[in-house]
Amino acid sequence: SKEDVQAFLKKNAFVLFTVGAVIVGIVLGFALRPYKMSFREVKYFSFPGELLMRMLQMLVLPLLISSLITGMAALDSKASGKMGMRAVIYYMTTTFIAVFIGIIIVLIIHPGKGSKDEFGKQQTIEQVSPADAFLDLIRNMFPPNLVQACTQQFKTKYGKRVVHVTMTVNDTLFNSTNGTQEFMEITREEVIPVPGQVNGVNALGLVVFSMCFGLIIGNMKEQGQLLRDFFDSLNEAIMRLVAIIMWYAPVGILFLIAGKIVEMDDLTQMGGQLGMYTITVIIGLLIHAVLILPTLYFVITRQNPFIFIAGLLQALVTALGTSSSSATLPVTFKCLEENNKIDKRITRFVLPVGATINMDGTALYEALAAIFIAQVNNMEMNFGQIITISITATAASIGAAGIPQAGLVTMVIVLTSVGLPTDDITLIIAVDWFLDRLRTTTNVLGDSIGAGIVEFLSRHELRSKDVEMGNSVLEE
Ligand code: ASP
Repeated sequence: SKEDVQAFLKKNAFVLFTVGAVIVGIVLGFALRPYKMSFREVKYFSFPGELLMRMLQMLVLPLLISSLITGMAALDSKASGKMGMRAVIYYMTTTFIAVFIGIIIVLIIHPGKGSKDEFGKQQTIEQVSPADAFLDLIRNMFPPNLVQACTQQFKTKYGKRVVHVTMTVNDTLFNSTNGTQEFMEITREEVIPVPGQVNGVNALGLVVFSMCFGLIIGNMKEQGQLLRDFFDSLNEAIMRLVAIIMWYAPVGILFLIAGKIVEMDDLTQMGGQLGMYTITVIIGLLIHAVLILPTLYFVITRQNPFIFIAGLLQALVTALGTSSSSATLPVTFKCLEENNKIDKRITRFVLPVGATINMDGTALYEALAAIFIAQVNNMEMNFGQIITISITATAASIGAAGIPQAGLVTMVIVLTSVGLPTDDITLIIAVDWFLDRLRTTTNVLGDSIGAGIVEFLSRHELRSKDVEMGNSVLEE
C-alpha cells in the first residue's frame, strides 16, 4: 500500500540516496566524457567530492584515538585480551584466505600470457629491501613524538609521472615563470606515503599508543574517571559530527565518482593483458567478498550475512567513492552501530585496528599483481617463491595505509622479495585507481564482518561485564 511504500522510503532514504548517488555519478561521468574537460574543469567539477574527502579525513584522527581509548577502557584486560586474540585470529585467517584466492585465481586465469604488452612508460622505482620495510613497520608502531605522529608527512621517491590528483590550487598550477597565468599540467615527484602513514598520520603508532593508554585508564579506578569521561564524551561528539556529514556524503560520492570517470584515460589497452588482469582481480575480490566472508559469517553466527551487509551499504559505497578505508572509518562506525546494532565496546575496539591493519582486498591484490608481473615477464614462480609472495603480500597489506593506492606502493616489498622488476608496477598503474576502489570496499567489508564475528564470539564476556556494571542486560 501507499503507506508501506512511504514507510519504506523513509526508512531507507539514506541507502536510496547513496545508491542513487553512485548510479547518477557513473551516468553523469560517462555523459560528460565526450566534452573532454580540461584538468582544471575536472578539478572544479569534482570539488564537492574533494570536500567530502576532506571532511571525513578531518574526523579520522580524533575518532581513531577517542574510540580506541574508550573501547579499551570499557573492557578489563582479560576481556580485551580475549577479544583482541579473536580479532587477530580473524584478521590473519581472512587475510591468508584472501591471498590464497588471489594466487589461485591468477594461476588459473593466467592473465599475463604472451609477451609483455608495454602499457605505460617505464620509470625507475627505487628498490626497497624487505628487511627495511619490516623494520619500518615496527618502527612506526612506536612514534617517538605523538604530536608529530598526528601530522607528519612522508615523501618517498616513486618514479615520476604526470599527476592528476589531489593538488590544491596554488602557484604550481600556473605557469608563473612566463607570467601568463596559463594553466599547465605539471610533472612532479609524487608524494607517496610510506607504510603505516595515513595522510600524514602515523595510524599504526597512534593505534598502539591509544590501545595501551585506554587499557591503563580502564584499570585506574576513580583516578581514571576524568580521562574516561573525557574520551567518552569526545567520541560521542565526533560521532555526532559524523551524523551530519553523512547527509552530505551522497553528494560528495556522486562527484567523486563522476569526476574520476570524466578524467580517466581511455581504456584502449583494455583488450590485452591489462584487461584480463582487471577481470582477474575483480573475480578474486568478488569471490572473497561475496562468497568467503559471508559464508564465514554465516558459519560462525548462524545469521543471514546479506542482511548484515545490507546494513553496511553506505560504508561500502563510501569506500568505493573515496578509495580510502580510513576516510570511510566514520561511516563504518555509524553503519555498524546504528544499522547492525553492534556493541560499541566492540566497534570502538575492533574497527580502528581493522581499518589500519586488516586489508583483505589489498592482500589479495598484491599477491595477484606480483604473480601477474611474473607472468608478463615470462618468469615461472616456484612453490617457495609463491610462499614468499603470500607472506610478503600479507605483510604489505598490514603495512599499507588506508588511503588511496597505498597498496601499489607497498607492492614494492612483494616484488623485491622474489626478485621481480619493481619498475613493472608502472604496467598496472593505469587501472589501479579503479581496482583500488574495489579492494578498499573489500577491506571495509572484511573489517565490518570481523566486528560482527568478534561481537558474536564475545557475547559472554560482554554480558558478564554488563551484569558486573549493573547495566540492563538484553535477553538473547
Ligand atoms: N586504498 C586502500 C584502502 O584504503 C589501500 C590500498 O591501496 O590497497 O583500504
